[in-house]
Amino acid sequence: MPQTQTLEPLRAVIARHGLSADKRLGQNFLLDSQLLDRIARVPGDLQQKTVYEVGPGPGGLTRALLKAGANVTAVERDRRCLPALEELSNSFPNQLNVISGDAMEIDEPAILGNDVHIVANLPYNVGTALLIRWLTAKTWQPWWASLTLMFQKEVAERITAKVGSSHYGRLSVLAQWRSEAKLSFPVHRSAFVPPPKVMSAVVHLTPKAQPDNLSLASLEKITAAAFNQRRKMLRQSLKNIEGMMEALEQAGIESTRRPETVSVEEFINLARYWENREP
Ligand code: SAM
Repeated sequence: MPQTQTLEPLRAVIARHGLSADKRLGQNFLLDSQLLDRIARVPGDLQQKTVYEVGPGPGGLTRALLKAGANVTAVERDRRCLPALEELSNSFPNQLNVISGDAMEIDEPAILGNDVHIVANLPYNVGTALLIRWLTAKTWQPWWASLTLMFQKEVAERITAKVGSSHYGRLSVLAQWRSEAKLSFPVHRSAFVPPPKVMSAVVHLTPKAQPDNLSLASLEKITAAAFNQRRKMLRQSLKNIEGMMEALEQAGIESTRRPETVSVEEFINLARYWENREP
């Protein structure tokens, strides 16, 4: 591993390669090495671990991950960043593999294998779509061992919200059905260059060993209908789903309740009764 003192400051790397932030690609760069090291510590010891980073940009978080001893595969859509990443790869021989492309189109398990730690300061425009894709991996246990992700704070709160909170919704139920989801720490907007309009936060998710055996489609159908009309009672918002009133009764959930009072376990139970209903 090289001495980090030998690495050029990130600001200089950005200036030398002309990496002015492109809003369309959700580019808000992190330059503070202490903050970047803190993010890289969230998944635990990364020595010799496989890490997948989406959107390395000029490579700030990538540096922190490499310093932590990880073997990093990073996918970046902005080709302007590739020369800077190539230099970083030369500074950490055999530790960094950069893929030029769109993270939404990568066959991740085929390229990365299993037991992968995903660590990323995600572009806001594809962040939630990527999270949903990782949470709905076809095989479970999934190919990833943990997710350490920077989101807009409001999205981070939705992922980790507990029942009864105003942030609790579809994403909370999906995330907490499949994983243990924690908000690690908030990150002030001023930490980014350029600063975004809103605050951010890092979340950490680890897959649940045995999520209840249930089809994603059933759970999604129910939570979509329930939370699309979150002020309404379940008997109103779910009335158009055939067999749902019986399932509510079987699951012991009062139809006069509103969706934000229904726990993840209760939604799972409800979906299971509904899936197994008599034709
Ligand atoms: N990791 C860097 C950091 O922390 O400073 C940059 C983070 S910036 C919020 C998001 C990065 O994702 C940008 O470098 C952007 O070019 C890249 N990006 C945007 N959309 C992408 C996509 N679909 N696939 C891969 N990278 C993408």
